Amino acid sequence: MNTIISFLKVSPKLVYLFCALALFLQIPERYVPAAERESGEVAARRIMIERDLRGRGIKDERVLAAMEAVPRHLFVPDRLRDSAYADRPLPIGAGQTISQPYIVALMSELLALKATDTVLEIGTGSGYQTAVLARLAATVSSIEIVPSLGDRAKKLLDELGYKNIELKIGDGFFGWEERGPFDAILLTAAAPKIPEPLWRQLREGGRLVMPLGEEGKSQRLIRAKKSAGQPVIEDFTAVLFVPLRGAVEEPSR
Ligand code: SAH
Repeated sequence: MNTIISFLKVSPKLVYLFCALALFLQIPERYVPAAERESGEVAARRIMIERDLRGRGIKDERVLAAMEAVPRHLFVPDRLRDSAYADRPLPIGAGQTISQPYIVALMSELLALKATDTVLEIGTGSGYQTAVLARLAATVSSIEIVPSLGDRAKKLLDELGYKNIELKIGDGFFGWEERGPFDAILLTAAAPKIPEPLWRQLREGGRLVMPLGEEGKSQRLIRAKKSAGQPVIEDFTAVLFVPLRGAVEEPSR
């Protein structure tokens, strides 16, 4: 070492200082043990539950417990992992987003799920909302129109061990006839009206929750309950969702 230092004709102190600085800069990125990182994420999740969910009026204890259990950081791209528990939507690729935690909680609460319910979700995206629903209901069938997103969600949900989720790539506008009728249906993309095939696949007494409205215009989060075959609609809050794609865009629909 000393010969190298004298060869370079620099002060040894300067070399040691440089080495120490290099090591210091590497440590936070590379050497934080996985367990410690994990506990940071558990803590971030608790803060999210208390401040952004309970603090903003989410009351359903089953929903809060489900969201405390699902590791949201695994559903966002690696480079955004540090923002996973912030109360905002994040990009997940293919121009789509994972919904913000508060909206995921609100929609889950509005579905009023029982442990025996069957659920249909349109717009799997990252699979995060799917995982939350799977902890609240008996089965979740979820449809995604973008194959790369659906495939990624399937791999992750399998790795996490969810056994009551079934995923399909396709246009959710048409629902999933063979799996229906459903006790609850959730759309995580906005449409100007309730897609007719989905309404047909909702059981009597069932709940359908969706962002109602057109792209770029104001959207409302609504719940439609099926009562004697007719929708009883409740309007909750303004939301901003990506639009439902596919058949819904055809003028005749
Ligand atoms: N619940 C998701 C949010 C995804 S954003 C999450 O938590 O990550 C809405 C998703 O709906 C996008 O992935 C988009 O590709 C999908 N989508 C849009 N139109 C669709 C359609 N007709 N059928 C199924 N999925 C659709």
